[in-house]
Amino acid sequence: MSPIRLIIIGILLYIGYLLIKGGRVDKQRKDRKKSEIRSPDDVSDVLVEDPVCKKLVPQNQAVTAEHEGERIYFCSEECCKTFVSEKGAEK
Ligand SMILES: [Zn+2]
Repeated sequence: MSPIRLIIIGILLYIGYLLIKGGRVDKQRKDRKKSEIRSPDDVSDVLVEDPVCKKLVPQNQAVTAEHEGERIYFCSEECCKTFVSEKGAEK
């Protein structure tokens, strides 16, 4: 066997080793990611700012309105109405 062939075999073995090792790391990462993914309705800790009274409200409890294609969140219907009457947003 020529030394060049030995080197090539060595490189191939090394690449194979890296692939196996890399694949394992990837799988571990994927498993970890899976456990980090939250269910879509778990937004109770996402806070949004009410532009009227500047209060922070949990997104899932906020009153929402569309303004210029943007979704805006309010702490209450009252703030929403105030915003709509000030900005003239369509309900
Ligand atoms: Zn408010």
